[in-house]
Parts: sequence; C-alpha cells; structure tokens
Amino acid sequence: MFNKILIANRGEIACRVIKTAKQMGIRTVAVYSDADRTARHVTLADEAIHIGSSPSSDSYLVGERIVNAALKTGAQAIHPGYGFLSENADFAQACADNDLVFIGPPINAIKAMGSKSAAKNIMSDADVPLVPGYHGDDQNPALIKQAADDMGYPVLLKAVAGGGGKGMRQVWSSDEFEQALNEAKRESMASFGNDDMLVEKYLTQPRHIEVQVFCDQHGNGVYLFERDCSVQRRHQKVVEEAPAPNITQEQREAMGETAVRAAQAIEYEGAGTVEFLFDSDGSFYFMEMNTRLQVEHPVTEMITGQDLVQWQLQVASGETLPLEQQQLSIHGHAFEARVYAEDPDNDFLPTTGTLTTLRTPEENDFVRVDTGVVENDEVSPFYDPMIAKLIVWDKDRDHALARTAQALRDYQIHGVTTNLNFLHNIVSCAPFANAELDTGFIEKHADALFNQNTIDLDTALAHAGLYLTLKNHCLVSDDHIKSDPWNSRNAWRMNQANCHRYELQINNQVHSVAIEELRADQGFVVHLNEQAIPAQATLNDKHLSCTLDGHKQKVLVSDNINADEFVIFSEHGSITVQPVQPDCGDEDNTAGANHFVAPMNGTIIEVLVGLNEAVSKDQPIVIMEAMKMQHTMLAPADGMVSELYCQQGDLVDGGTQLLNFEANQTSPTQ
Ligand code: ADP
Repeated sequence: MFNKILIANRGEIACRVIKTAKQMGIRTVAVYSDADRTARHVTLADEAIHIGSSPSSDSYLVGERIVNAALKTGAQAIHPGYGFLSENADFAQACADNDLVFIGPPINAIKAMGSKSAAKNIMSDADVPLVPGYHGDDQNPALIKQAADDMGYPVLLKAVAGGGGKGMRQVWSSDEFEQALNEAKRESMASFGNDDMLVEKYLTQPRHIEVQVFCDQHGNGVYLFERDCSVQRRHQKVVEEAPAPNITQEQREAMGETAVRAAQAIEYEGAGTVEFLFDSDGSFYFMEMNTRLQVEHPVTEMITGQDLVQWQLQVASGETLPLEQQQLSIHGHAFEARVYAEDPDNDFLPTTGTLTTLRTPEENDFVRVDTGVVENDEVSPFYDPMIAKLIVWDKDRDHALARTAQALRDYQIHGVTTNLNFLHNIVSCAPFANAELDTGFIEKHADALFNQNTIDLDTALAHAGLYLTLKNHCLVSDDHIKSDPWNSRNAWRMNQANCHRYELQINNQVHSVAIEELRADQGFVVHLNEQAIPAQATLNDKHLSCTLDGHKQKVLVSDNINADEFVIFSEHGSITVQPVQPDCGDEDNTAGANHFVAPMNGTIIEVLVGLNEAVSKDQPIVIMEAMKMQHTMLAPADGMVSELYCQQGDLVDGGTQLLNFEANQTSPTQ
C-alpha cells in the first residue's frame, strides 16, 4: 500500500479522498490554486502545493505542475478525483513516465472510452446493446443529417469527446437539424477542443441507470449494483438513488453482468461506471463508460457498506478486489441530492458569493454530507458551483425519502442562492415518491418544482418584523440593564404605544407589518392585515424563538453582508426578505430593464441580431458563456435592439449592461 498520495483535485472530492486515505494511514498532499489558498481540502491534507492562478486552465488542468508537485513531496500515486484530469490519457501517461501510479484505469482503457464513438464500436463487438445511431469517422454534415433522416426523429446529437451534457442537442425535425448541429459543434469545440459528432435515436422516456463496476489487475471484475440518475436538468444529474426502484432481479443481474463484460472488453482496472438508458419496455442500451469515480458513488457505498475510495487505493496498489460478486449485497436504500449554488427559478443560473450562513444537517449513520466548503467560504466563478452532496440512507425507499426531505430542510445556506428548496420540492412530490422516473422528470413536473412558495406569508412577516425589532431596538442582552428605561434603545414614550412599522419585500411584493412593543417586557403585538397577534420573542445570535398567538416556534435568521436582505429558515423552507426604505417603495420595475445585464463575468459568444433589427418575442439575441455554461438571452417582447454595447468575444463583468431593448408599443385597444 502507498505511504503518501497526491490528490489532483479540489472541493468535496478532494476532501472525500483525503478522509479515506487518513483512515488507511496514508499521508496526503493537496494541490491548490490562488482562489483555493484557504480551501477545506488544503486544510485537511498533510501537505499542499500551490499550482497556479485561479482559472483551472492555469492550475488543476496543468498536468505537469501536478506531476512535479507529486515528485517534490515524494507522493507515490495520484488520485485524480472526477472532472479535471481524471479521464485524461496524456496525464495518466505523464504519471507513468514519472513512476507515479495513476489511481484509475490503464491508459488504453481511458483512451478507448474517451471517444463516445470508438467506445460504441468496442461495445458492439462485446455484444453490449447500443442505441441505434451513426457513430462513424466521416463527419460530413450532410451524411450525419442523412443518418438522422433515415433513423427518423427525434434524434440526439452528441459530442464524440463530450461529457457533462455539453455539446448535446435534441433534434425534433429535419428542418431544425442544421442549426442544432452547428450549436452542438460550437459548444463541443469550446468545451473539448473537438467538434466531432455522433447521432443516435432519441428515446423519449428512458431512465438513466448506471452500474458501478470494479476490476483489479488480476482479471477479477464485479458490479456493485446500480444507481438511478434519471432526475436531470440539462442532462446533468440532480438527485440520484441506489438501488434503482422498480426493476426486477433479472434486469439487475443482466445489467450488472453486461457492465462487467463491457469493462473486461477494455481490460479495465479500478472503479468505473457503465451508463445505460433503460427503456420503458425493460430493454437497456449502453450509453457510455466513465473511467473514474463518479460524483454519485456515495449512494453505492451506503447500500453496499463498502468504501469505494479504499477499493480504488487497494486495486491501484496491486491488491485483489476486497470482495467477490456473491459476497456483495444490497442493504436498504440511499439518495443523493446535489446542493448547488444556482437559481433553479432563473434557468439554473449559477450564483457566486460568500456563504455567510452554512448549517448542515447533523451527520450520523443515516445522513452524510460530502462537501469542500465551510461557513464564510466563497463560491467563486472559477469552478463548478456544487456546494455539497447530501447523502441519506434508510432501510427502504420510503423511509430514506422522508429522511432526505427532512435533511434538506435542515440544510441552511445564505449568501448565495441555492437549489435547496428545489431539491426539497423534488423529493417531496408525489411522482418522485411513486418512483415515476424518466429523464424528462423535471420538465414534466415543472409546475410542482419551480417557483413554489411553501411558506405561509403572514407567519414569515411576523417573524421578519419581530427579528428587525429585536435586532434594532431591543438588543441589550442583560435583563437588568434592559429593564432600565434609561438604557432602552427603543422609542419608548410616556403614554404612547411604541410601534415599529416595516415595509418588507418578499417575492417581488411589498408588505407591511407593525410590531408594537409592550411595556415592562410584556412582549409584543404583531399588527398584520387588520389583526393584532399577541407575541413573545427572543433573539439569540441568529436564532429567533417566538410565540405567536400561543404557538411556540423557532427559526434561524441570517443577514447578508450588506444587511439589505435577510433569510428566514424554517421547517417549511427559506424565504428572503428585503426591508424597503420608506421613501423608495416604488422602485423602477420597468419590465426588461435588467434583462440584458450580464448575469456574471463571462464571454460574449455571439450577438445574433443587428442594431434596430426587428425581433419577435423569445427570439435569441445574445449568447454568452459564464461559468462554463451557455446562456441565451431572449427578446422579452416584439421590438428591437436600440443600443448595443457588446460584441462577439468581449469579456464582460457581471452587471454590465449589454444592450438596450425597445419593445413595440402595443395598441391600448388590444
Ligand atoms: P454526457 O457524457 O455528456 O453526460 P451521456 O451520453 O452520458 O452524456 O448522456 C447524458 C444524458 O442524456 C443521459 O443521462 C440521458 O438523460 C440523456 N441521453 C443520452 N442519450 C440519450 C438517448 N439516445 N435518448 C434519450 N436520452 C438520452
């Protein structure tokens, strides 16, 4: 076994690998960029080497610096995690050239699976079922289109070098084909430096079921069962579970055995995942093989009781697989929810900022949190905006699901917008409870998942008013001092009610609430919608305890850095409150005024319309790339672009206005 390994990654997966290495008595070396100087993975490792500036192209993707860091620190092996260099055959070769063990499969296996089309050829030779399609070397667009026309629509275009759902486009008819091909090629070139495409039949209601395989250097291979990862947005996984619900034991075994056959066809070693599309009739087709540890590996660990990173280290150091197939079994059910800094109600736009409040659910035998951040860390624009993975296990699916919903409510984050409420909506909706899963799940149930307000507005207003009153007028903690009127910070006047009025904006609407402070610590009266609700309240740091009309309750309140908004977390979710200054209640909310502001730092990929050119509602106007994702800005109405402040290739800062849009005047009679 190794004495020391280097982890060529950051964030939660670096922390995850360090955890197992420590348990095995292996010393660890982290690498870090400028942005990650104080990151959790750096703190956890025994040693850490600085490898460059913040962009990953100048740090985590520079194989040479990582190899040098390993040589300098005397590490014997490199764990690549997932993403970055984990499936990079050149990097694996560079490790070998320097006598470092790459903790992953042999170089040829990475190469074989690196190209989606080459992988399909190998799999078809090994009798692994494939989705019908064209995956040839001839990239003539007319030929690819002909293949699609022959197959019949819908079809799916995929980047041969693709991953993470990038360079992928559904095409529903022959006339859309050319544009979709161009878009997919452009995205693929930008992400992978290669724009070769394959096309396959688009299955309309498949499930994504993948099998965890493991092989050692002695010809042994096993499968550690499957994960259902059908709940996806833009082809990226959101909630995963193991085992896959509603499949038969025969189907489980057939997929498992096929997956091991697929791995052995490329003389695989280490951890790998064979992804299948599982059709409604029970047939399954090979999609691709990921030659690394997957983000969602913990659900497999929870149901098998195995530590997959430990298996990886054992296999990489030449040991045989710890268990044989018949020694592996499924115990209980596990879910993973990916907690992201993103705004699901705004097209999943990634968000950045400081995690001013970060409370995780309590970890125990059922609940596990894999994360790379701590409170007050930054979510920077440089890397994937995943904050954490919440993994929950219980004895069966129903129990695990209920526990996942609870744990999501106990996850409290303020400082960046997150998908926590959205994740809660997924795990608590009836179709998910009934396991009605397919890859269109999110689109299909959009009404129940997006823009859901789960919080009672009146209660939130009462909490908000009491919080502001306690924070601004009553924050003298010593009871003796507080009872002395000369020390009071409130607006107490003899013979007058001491009342604080607040105008509070919640979900774009302004509401009023007044809190009357009663004398001699008699509590408060909340005046709301013509009602007078008797209340008691205390504030201890961020914890507001209150009694509203006899109902005792506790919530957590978190202010942001500028104190211009705060978030109330309760068992029903979180709600953001913005106090409105009395004089500026009527802000300019002109429709579309903020529409053409760059959402964050990024690059203008294309300006699709000319100045003063007529455009119709929802027509794409500008494509911008920010945080490795493309955002298309659409015309909010029929009209025209009257000013253009950007052009293709511009690097723009978040908040920069990109253009002026003038909507056509609509006739008042219409
Ligand atoms: P990537 O490597 O970019 O993640 P995959 O080939 O793994 O791409 O596919 C990602 C997702 O796209 C799958 O999980 C599935 O939801 C969907 N998908 C892929 N191929 C098909 C297909 N032929 N028909 C329907 N959906 C598909």
